[in-house]
Amino acid sequence: MSVAQVLSRAQLGLAAPLVQIEAHLGSGLPGFSIVGLPAPVVRESRERVRSAILNSGYDFPPGRITVNLAPVELSKEGGRYDLPVALALLCASGQLKLRCAAPPECYGELGLGGELRPVRGLLLAAIHAARAGHELLVPASDLAEARLARHPNAHGFGTLREVCGFIGGDRSAAVASSADATAGEVALRATPGNEGSLDEVRGQWRAKRALTIAAAGGHSLLMIGPPGSGKTMLATRLPALLPALTEAEAIEVAGIASISAAGFDPARWGQRPFRAPHHASSANAIVGGGSRLRAGEISLAHRGVLFMDELPEFDRRVLEALREPLESGAITLVRAADRLELPAEFQLVAAMNPCPCGYLGDNTRSCCCGPRRVQRYRDRISGPLLDRIDLHIEVPRVEPVALQRAPAAATAPALAAQVQRARSVQLARQRCCNARLDHAGLAAHCQAAPAAQRLVAHVCERLGLSARGYHRLLKVARTIADLDGAAELGTAHVSEAASLRPSIEVG
Ligand SMILES: [Zn+2]
Repeated sequence: MSVAQVLSRAQLGLAAPLVQIEAHLGSGLPGFSIVGLPAPVVRESRERVRSAILNSGYDFPPGRITVNLAPVELSKEGGRYDLPVALALLCASGQLKLRCAAPPECYGELGLGGELRPVRGLLLAAIHAARAGHELLVPASDLAEARLARHPNAHGFGTLREVCGFIGGDRSAAVASSADATAGEVALRATPGNEGSLDEVRGQWRAKRALTIAAAGGHSLLMIGPPGSGKTMLATRLPALLPALTEAEAIEVAGIASISAAGFDPARWGQRPFRAPHHASSANAIVGGGSRLRAGEISLAHRGVLFMDELPEFDRRVLEALREPLESGAITLVRAADRLELPAEFQLVAAMNPCPCGYLGDNTRSCCCGPRRVQRYRDRISGPLLDRIDLHIEVPRVEPVALQRAPAAATAPALAAQVQRARSVQLARQRCCNARLDHAGLAAHCQAAPAAQRLVAHVCERLGLSARGYHRLLKVARTIADLDGAAELGTAHVSEAASLRPSIEVG
């Protein structure tokens, strides 16, 4: 009778709590039970583990086998426990001896032939394993992801047999896979996004200016314009204007992606996310949640851009659910007894037509919607949501003549440099971007020259601004002043900020 123990980790949002896998071989009628896993997963895992052990040239232990995944109350899913279960069995039956000082953390789904298959969310597990100082054994195909976590002691393997060789003291078993991973690592240096440059957008200087301000201060932006005016093209250029992610931010972004259904694509390492969900998407898809509490688009867009084209076409519940994360930069998902807090510091870029047909105010085609239809269309977006979008601009269609003109000299790199400077100023001054300034921060950092103070008061009175509207005006003016390199808000900054506020009636 013997017991053996191996470690692994479960996955709960961005947390990765430790799971101990214990195998106990007892006498009695032959049987193989796994406790601490939901039933359907156990059934599949048992069959894979049995076949993999036999097909790797080992004996499947006779007698009564009990495998326990502790703690039991932790919800566990997926095939990541196949490898640790198989290793625990082989150790308990004396076919394998752990030569490591401490038990390693092991991850991997097993094929029936004993080959190791990739598991989702490994980056997060690797980050935690590195912090705990545990050795990490993973499928070779996941090693590049594990190395992103700067794990000093991660090893990749192709088969169960290779893992056993390594654990038994043959340190060369992992060498081949490590070499593969080094080749993969080269591709993991931050690659520029393929969204293209702002210089590819002809004309639209006003929209480009608004986009620069949005990038500099982290402000959300609403573009209103007819179809074909280039709203989508403008939005996709925003990530290229934003400053590069720091390594800690890149890990955070990759960590969230690694727990999504699509998984983390190492080719996107270091890039700001750009998410553009369709307007028919469900609230669960956008905000997160569902039967397994998955991250939604707003978390996948964390530290990047969430582009919502045709904003009024989104379900009203989706739009309302955006209010809290827009404010707090995080989302709490609740399902039965489970609670999951995920970051969601995304920059919202929304676009909409001026009316249902799209041609209201266009000078080439006439609008066929009556005023009531237009109002109903705009009323789909609630006032409180519009009130949380810092910048509002109209994007008219560019005349064909203007499109034929030769493009001006490249300005995008200069704009990106301006944005970078303005962001550095903000971080040094208040450790967050202007869009995230709280009341105390506004009072401390948005001092205005006397003439600008009078202008602020005048704008508030003329436009009947709410307290929120007043704060938004100050934040945007602060960003414009930062782009200008000015310590104090001037009248030019305030008046430009005032020109970027809602032009449509708040419904
Ligand atoms: Zn119309």
